[in-house]
Amino acid sequence: MLNSLRVVCSARAALVRTSRLSAALPGHSLSSSLLPRGDTWPCSMDTRAPVKDRGLSYHTSPSHSPRSFCTGQVHLSCWRCQQPLDKTPAFFCLSCEAVQPPEQEVSYFEIMACDHTFTLDAHKLQRRYLQLQRALHPDNFGQKSVTEQEFSESQSALVNKAYTTLLKPLSRGLYMLELQGMRIEEGTDSGADTEFLLELMEINEAVDEARTPEEANQIGQDTKGKLADLTERIDAALREAELQTARALLAQMKYHANIEEKVKEKLREFM
Ligand SMILES: [Zn+2]
Repeated sequence: MLNSLRVVCSARAALVRTSRLSAALPGHSLSSSLLPRGDTWPCSMDTRAPVKDRGLSYHTSPSHSPRSFCTGQVHLSCWRCQQPLDKTPAFFCLSCEAVQPPEQEVSYFEIMACDHTFTLDAHKLQRRYLQLQRALHPDNFGQKSVTEQEFSESQSALVNKAYTTLLKPLSRGLYMLELQGMRIEEGTDSGADTEFLLELMEINEAVDEARTPEEANQIGQDTKGKLADLTERIDAALREAELQTARALLAQMKYHANIEEKVKEKLREFM
């Protein structure tokens, strides 16, 4: 019994390692049959968008009980001293302190240690970003090996990408859709009906025609309210996995965010 479990665990460990090492290879993908039911493999399996791979997690599935047997056995190891790494993602080895290569299967939320929600804590995101950038900054690795210098550079770039993606609600929302298998380019306009576009045109004109800072400010306040309302609705849609709804609401959010920028410009004109 234990032997067969060990075989299962080793196979999984090998898969985790293989996928980690080869994820940077173009065209690499793992069979979708490895994923739990209901999961769809995003069509964007490139290095630009690491996606968490729950099918290859560190825990055994219920059919491979006892669960505790495998837990802790399938950790990734440090590339330098081979000691198991304590967590995912691990930026540094606790034993030898070497910086580790980026892990391809972790999501930006995991990298930034934020809750996987649309309404994430922006202050927490900011704190984590500064903390990671301080630790990973390539300047800290000038005296280290070339390998460590390269790892710190790629980790630092990945942290930047994760931070900027999660910082703005629009890119965060699109990324969350992408994690669920829906790929949309940020410039794509869809889901906006005629009535909505007419309303937007009117608001745009009102900004153009605003004669006083108060008038412009009023439109700014209204827009803020609409953005807050949209944030709530997008959050709800993503929680319910209503992806088409979330996508349409994100398109609306983009228009209102543009108006918000336009109002700011208008207010600068009055100064
Ligand atoms: Zn180590």
